Amino acid sequence: MLKAVLFDLDDTLYAYNPCHEEGINQLVSYLTLAWGLKKEDVLAKYESSRRIVHDQLKETAASHHRLLYMTKLCESFDKNPITYAKYLEEVYWKGYFSRMELNENVIPIFDDLVKRNVKIAIVTDLVAEIQYRKILYLGLEDYINVIVTSEEAGADKPNPAIFNLALNKLNLNSPDNVVFVGDSYSKDIFGANSVGIKAFWISNDTDPQKSNPMMIRVSDLKTLRGVIFDHV
Ligand SMILES: [Mg+2]
Repeated sequence: MLKAVLFDLDDTLYAYNPCHEEGINQLVSYLTLAWGLKKEDVLAKYESSRRIVHDQLKETAASHHRLLYMTKLCESFDKNPITYAKYLEEVYWKGYFSRMELNENVIPIFDDLVKRNVKIAIVTDLVAEIQYRKILYLGLEDYINVIVTSEEAGADKPNPAIFNLALNKLNLNSPDNVVFVGDSYSKDIFGANSVGIKAFWISNDTDPQKSNPMMIRVSDLKTLRGVIFDHV
């Protein structure tokens, strides 16, 4: 019997791209006005800042931290990061949150799970502070029994530590009767499978290489709702 479902957050429960694009738009608008920069220069420096931080901090929560990207961005424009980076981070997140919309199938799925006494966990990369803000913004906090971020686990997915910490917090000593739901094959599906958790992959990618007996591919959350109780 299904005891718990572990969900990825970003790009699984809401669409990431419109949010990120608006965050970047707001950052560009602010910096073109406040610092008199060209849009192309802001975009190029943001991308190189992101890449530097990512490469330095591979597979950790901090590698995604926008405050560190803004720190590098300030440094590359010869501005004091202590004065500006936190504000720029907030400009980005304000734009990001303004476009955040919960997928319409999430509440019906969560209600089905609650009705059957199935616990709900969120297992997500990035720092706890911002991921908690996202969950509050989406209004999901009362559904969530357990939250694990890669900041708390010490490593991003697919590192087994983050999945094992989630099982631990759920007081489950076996991956049986648990499923994972996520959009990334290399992080969510590979990671969950590597600790023995079956996974639903939300994807339209039909690559036959990405197929295994521990994974069920579903095109969207609506489809997942119809099949989630059939496979465990
Ligand atoms: Mg994701």
